[in-house]
Amino acid sequence: MKIISSPKALQSDLLQQKRQGKTIAFAPTMGNLHDGHLSLVTLGKKQADLMVSSIFVNPKQFGPNEDFESYPRTLSKDIELLKSVGCDYLLTPTIQDIYPQGEKQHTSVKVNRLTDKLCGASRPGHFEGVTTVVNILLNIVQPDIAIFGKKDYQQLQVIRAMVNDLFLPIKIIGAEISRTPDGLALSSRNGYLTENEKKQAVVLRQTLLWAKQQILANDTFQSIVKEAHEKLNSEGFTVDYFEIVRQSNLEIAINNNENLLIAAAAWLGKPRLIDNLEVNFSDS
Ligand code: AMP
Repeated sequence: MKIISSPKALQSDLLQQKRQGKTIAFAPTMGNLHDGHLSLVTLGKKQADLMVSSIFVNPKQFGPNEDFESYPRTLSKDIELLKSVGCDYLLTPTIQDIYPQGEKQHTSVKVNRLTDKLCGASRPGHFEGVTTVVNILLNIVQPDIAIFGKKDYQQLQVIRAMVNDLFLPIKIIGAEISRTPDGLALSSRNGYLTENEKKQAVVLRQTLLWAKQQILANDTFQSIVKEAHEKLNSEGFTVDYFEIVRQSNLEIAINNNENLLIAAAAWLGKPRLIDNLEVNFSDS
């Protein structure tokens, strides 16, 4: 695996590869890698000749009271993991490499839909930070396909919207959520959980599964959402949101006429956990 910190150096190396007819898949990350991240690399390797990943803890997507400073940084372990799944290139830029003008002065990219609800409601500016850095990274790598996890479902939809609006010639692929054997969605922030909280945390997934059963049993969405809040609160979570939304536009759903997403975010001890479950009624 080639490890390159300079965006320009990676860009010219990859442009040469493209001129030789090689296709490129890309999966950006913030490091502290787990099997979820590695599944994106494995998926990308099946779809393209060369697999590129990046590790960059992007300050622009963290709020002032969030964990940018303490976010786990485990570069040497991450490098070994990426090598083990056959990643071809890794970009490891500094903040100065990505935002040479300084974060505030730098050109930013803002998607003006999908971003004010769910995670966007409690993390103002978060998605602008995400789309700005993803756009920069996509322009550096110029991949044929880019892979993002469905764990961050709203992020995936916002990136799809950006790629569409800006006519970026890149196919966006959503990868299924990787979980622990008992169902907890893998996350770099799970390391903040105590052993006891890790056991409790599976209730988030269980509540999503319960809600799906209730939807299929034709219970009203309002009562499902209300009961889910009660269940989570009684299990020690502080619920940020628990919503049944339309997959296409993330608007609150009122019936089963289209594919749905049950999406949840809740604090358990230190971390804010997110998870979701698709409920598909049609192929579209
Ligand atoms: P992050 O390092 O948290 O920014 O995540 C980098 C990429 O990995 C994003 O596309 C995430 O959606 C994806 N990802 C994170 N956790 C998981 C998971 N448990 N399963 C699948 N993809 C994931």
